[in-house]
Formats: sequence, structure tokens, C-alpha cells
Amino acid sequence: MAITGEDAGEMLEKAEAAVREVQFLEFRIDYLKKPETASFKIKQLYEMRPDVITIATCRRVQAGGRFKGTVAAQMEILSKAAAAGCQIVDLELESAEAIKAAELDKFRSKITALLISHHDFKATKKLEETFERMKQYNADFYKLVTTATNLRDNVTMIKFLQSTSDHHFMVGLCMGEQGIVSRVLAVRAGSVFTFGAATRGEETGPGQVTMRELRDVYRIETVDAVTRVYGVAGDPISHSLSPFTMNTGFRRENVHAAFLPLPSRGMDDLLTCVREIPIHGMSVTMPYKQEIVGHLDNSDVVTQQTGACNTVVRGQDGKLYGFNTDVAGIVTPLEEHIALQGATVLVLGAGGAARAAIFGVKQKGAEVFILNRTPQTAQALARKMGAKTIKRSDLAKMEFDVIINATPVGMGNPKVSPLEEKELKGKIIFDLVYNPYETKLLKMARAQNLIAISGVEMFVHQGARQFEIWTGKPAPVDEMRLEVFRQLGEKPIPPTPAAAQRAAAAAERELREAAAMLAFEQGGEEPPPPSRPAPKITAKAAKAARIIPAGAPPAKPATPAKALAPVKPAEPTKVVAPVKGSTAKPAVKAPPKSTAPLKPAAKKPTKSIPSKSASAKKSATKPPAKAAPAKPKAKDFVKKHPPVKSKKTRR
Ligand code: NAP
Repeated sequence: MAITGEDAGEMLEKAEAAVREVQFLEFRIDYLKKPETASFKIKQLYEMRPDVITIATCRRVQAGGRFKGTVAAQMEILSKAAAAGCQIVDLELESAEAIKAAELDKFRSKITALLISHHDFKATKKLEETFERMKQYNADFYKLVTTATNLRDNVTMIKFLQSTSDHHFMVGLCMGEQGIVSRVLAVRAGSVFTFGAATRGEETGPGQVTMRELRDVYRIETVDAVTRVYGVAGDPISHSLSPFTMNTGFRRENVHAAFLPLPSRGMDDLLTCVREIPIHGMSVTMPYKQEIVGHLDNSDVVTQQTGACNTVVRGQDGKLYGFNTDVAGIVTPLEEHIALQGATVLVLGAGGAARAAIFGVKQKGAEVFILNRTPQTAQALARKMGAKTIKRSDLAKMEFDVIINATPVGMGNPKVSPLEEKELKGKIIFDLVYNPYETKLLKMARAQNLIAISGVEMFVHQGARQFEIWTGKPAPVDEMRLEVFRQLGEKPIPPTPAAAQRAAAAAERELREAAAMLAFEQGGEEPPPPSRPAPKITAKAAKAARIIPAGAPPAKPATPAKALAPVKPAEPTKVVAPVKGSTAKPAVKAPPKSTAPLKPAAKKPTKSIPSKSASAKKSATKPPAKAAPAKPKAKDFVKKHPPVKSKKTRR
């Protein structure tokens, strides 16, 4: 972790905090207003924490740092830092080249380990040439950092590390937004360590990610030669939440994989990276959803019919198979609220997302109307997809079951909406925009007590489907959704105020009935008549009920066994071979559709029985002969048996 600070005191404070989670720090002494004061504070750190390993760096302005002094002054500061405890000292190639050999030998004798570094802030080129210069100096570590101007540069760096790290202790990575691949994968190519920022805003190099992100999101400490690499390809891509949700899924389901942003400069650049890294699977987003289709060896029916692909699997044979999960991402959340057969759906917009929405709901038997800013685009799409177009003025006399916003209106701006209040002529409003989570359109829908579905649902469900295609495992949808909320800094809002009330009331009723039934089983009075057909509540159900008190978040979704059957990435057998001589593209057999309800099943508590209540279980099956215990109140019941994480609860 790179540690900066305006003064040495602040740097020490940050270091003290940092060593609680990481014991390998780099002191960026050149960031201090008075770099000469650093050694005193470094010594203090070592008095408290002699176990810490640190690098002292005092990079000169000429080499991309902040230190304005001479090379002699730089070496003086670094020598003192070494004397204070820093085991590794970073000296730029430019500084080493500026002094005499004897001076460097003298400097070398004062320090434990020398790291010779070179930074290229413009490009990734001439790596071997630069390394030849570096090798003139007998260093313990050689650090070569370049700038990635495309994804291919990461491949160059990785290959360089692979070819040099057998004989030298190498440190290498690419800076810049496009260097993220190397920041995570260089360690498995031979880089002995990498660098992470202390926090966002404290980066010491362009594109540096935080140490916590490296560790918690990309799980860099587990990245090795067999880690499968996945990513999200697009341009721009820095805003994407997919690395967070997908890596959460991988961690939760114990998939040995890392999911990276792939900010691609063109299709060639992307495909080189896919082939050379190699990348096992990709989410594809704008502007590549259509372009990628021409590079696929095979694709599913939805991709073929929509002409857009958002999911790529690279088979073991190196071939690329395409899927479209955007459609499922739109249909699945809608079907939790409405049967689409015969429903009337208004789609706002006529771009890629609109196309997926129209295809999905039409496939389910809905009648579709399109309203777009450019009427000609809407008309062309309507003709192609068997839908109708309407004008905005028609809205006044129409009613729909569902309105889907597939325009970017409202994205990044909670004050604008594609429709006005009086134009919300639908029962369900689905805004595909997911940032902000609560768009103005959804706010207005909730105010009118309509069902409001956030774009988060599409994002989560299309991602869940991708996860299943790549890994063959059911996606941990709830965890992935929670991660989105964590990243957006939001709390989930139920689709309607009424739904929230219903869920809370149902949970409370269930709790009451379970507690009453338990009391009855223990020999108490007759249970009160249930508010709905008497459920068969066993002691197990009663105990489970205690974990869903009123207002608690809904229970887990259906068991993985019921979730949709996965498509194994490397199973070309699923590909239906084209008829010889046919020009038609072969179709990938579409994976079976999920039968499991992805909606949290609040009525089916799934958590296991707290071990503490084993005796209660016994007494439930064998009532005591003596006086029956007092009937527990639901509130006391919950208090006495707080929710306990079962062994099966994975987080
Ligand atoms: P797209 O292909 O660029 O299409 C955008 C559509 O919106 C076009 O029909 C365009 O109309 C219309 N539009 C653009 N700006 C407008 C404005 N100011 N007023 C009215 N209409 C406007 O984009 P896309 O890929 O379909 O994505 C659309 C939106 O869907 C994205 O911005 C994103 O918020 C959302 N989305 C969400 C997810 C998710 O996972 N939740 C996934 C994909 C997309 P013209 O024909 O007149 O240009």
C-alpha cells in the first residue's frame, strides 16, 4: 500500500492505520512538503511495528515524482530512510545513471535492498531496451512501469514479465485506465509485488486501484496461473458495476476466477486481449454489443434474432460463443409481477435496450407499442419486430400494463424523467436506468402507488444469467444485488409501498402463527385460527420463523437445485452443428429456462435451526407430562432466540 501525506506526522498516522490490514508499505516521501523529516517518523513506526516491510521512494520530478531536489539530496533522504528501517529503497534509473559508480556503491552499502525503477508515463514500448539499461546496475529488484494506451499493452507487459522473472526479481505493471488488467494479473506473470492506493483519491499513479479493491474485489492474493479471467468489455467502462457484482458472485460460490474491467479501444484490441491473456468469458456492453456478433463462432437464438450479444464464452478450443442475457434481465423481473401473455407494453426508446425489451416481452405474448424521440427509428424497429408505434400525444388516450423506459433519460440526473406525471398510464413502470437507483420516473410511479421496478433488477438478472453460463453454478442473486446497493450507496426500496406493507404483514403473521403453533406443540392452549389456510408448521418451521421478524429483509431465494440449468462454457457439444452446405449460422442450444422464482421467497424461511434450541425441538416432539410452559409471546420468542447464522449461511 502506497502511503502519502503532506507532512511526516500524517504519513506516520496513515501508516499506523494501514499496518492493521497490510504489512507491506511504500512511503512516498516525495509527497511530503519536507521530505527530510520522514526518517524520524519511519523510525517511530519501526519501534512499534518491527515486523513491517517498507519501501522508501523519493521520486524526482524529472522521473514523474514530486521531489524537486538534486540526486545527491534524494540519495541522502533515502539513505536516512533505510537507516530508520526501510528494507527496500527505490532509486530511479535516471538517478542511477546520473551518478558515478563509486557513489552508487557507497549508497548501496548503506541500504538493505535496492530497487531500480523506471516509469514511462506515455506508452508501453521498448521494454527490453530499457531493461538492458536497468541491468547495468546490480539491483535486488527491477521495477518497470509503463502506461497502457490500449488493452494490448497489458499483454506486452505480461509477456515481458514472463520472460524476465525467471532470472530477476521483477516488478511490472501498466498505469492508466487500461492498465487495470496488468495491475491484477502481473503478479501471476512474475511480478513479485504490486501497488495499491490507501484510499480512492490517494493514488500515487494513474489508474492505481485501492489496496482494498485489489484484495477484496479482485482477490489478488489468490490470483495464480489457473485463475480464470473474465471481464466486461466496453468503452467507456469505468462506471461499470459488473466487476463488483461478478467478483462477489465468484467469491460467494468459490469460483477461482477474477473479473476485470476491459476498457477496449476497438474490437481488434479486445480480441487480442481475449486470445492472449486468455479471457474465458466477457460481458459486452456499449459500443460493442452489435459489433461482437460478427466475431462469434456461434451464438444463441436470442443473439441471432436481436443482432446483439452481451455475453461471450471462450471455449477450450478458443472459439467464441455468444449469448444475450439482456432479454432475460428484462423479462424475469417483469414476470415477478405480471403474466406477459396478452399484456400491453409501451417501450420508450428504440436503441439496443429497447430492442431486447421488445423481443423479450413479445416472445412472451405481449402487445408492444414503441415511443421514440426519432419516430423513423421507432417505425423501422416496429416493422422489424412486429410492434406498433405511437406518438407522445397518443399517451393521453391510452393505458398500458407495463411501461419500460429504454432511453438514457434520467441517467445520472434524478431531476429528469422521460414522461410526465400525467403520462404514467401503466400499472408497472420499469426504468432500465439504474443510476441513480431511484430515478425521477420511479419516484413518480411510487407516488401514484404503481409498481416501480428499478434498472438494478435488469442489471442483476442479466448478470446472474451470465454468471450461470460461465460457471455452471446458480448465481447468488441476492448477494449480487446487495453489492450493487453497496456500490451505489443505496438501500433497496420495494417495488410498491403496498408491496412493502404486504411483505411486513405477512412476515409478522407467519411469526405469530409459528410461535403459537410451537406453544401448542409444547402442550399449550389451542392455537388461534390461522389468518389463512392453516399451514403445517413443524417445530423446524417455527424455529426458522424467528429469523424473519416483521420488517426484516426477505428470505433467501429458492434453493440452487431449482435454479436454471447451467451451460458449461467449454461444452461445444451444446452447439447444434450447421447442416453441411447451409449458409445459416449454427445455433447454440439455449439453456433451459429457470423454474426457480428469483424473487425472494419471504414465506419460505430457509435458515437452519439455531443449535441452542435443540432442547426445544425435543420437547416439541415429546410434550412434557407436567404443566405446560407459558405461551411465549412472539416478541420474547425472537428476543430469546436471536437469528444465528447457520453453517450453510455462506456470509
Ligand atoms: P442506445 O442504443 O443509445 O438507445 C438510446 C435510445 O434512447 C434511442 O432510441 C434514443 O432515441 C433514445 N434517447 C436518447 N437520448 C434521449 C433523450 N434525451 N430523450 C429521448 N430519447 C432519447 O442505448 P441503449 O443501449 O438502448 O441503452 C438505453 C439505456 O438503457 C441506457 O442509457 C441505460 O441507462 C439503460 N440500460 C440499462 C441496463 C441495465 O442493466 N439496467 C442495460 C442496458 C441499458 P433516438 O433514436 O432519437 O436517438
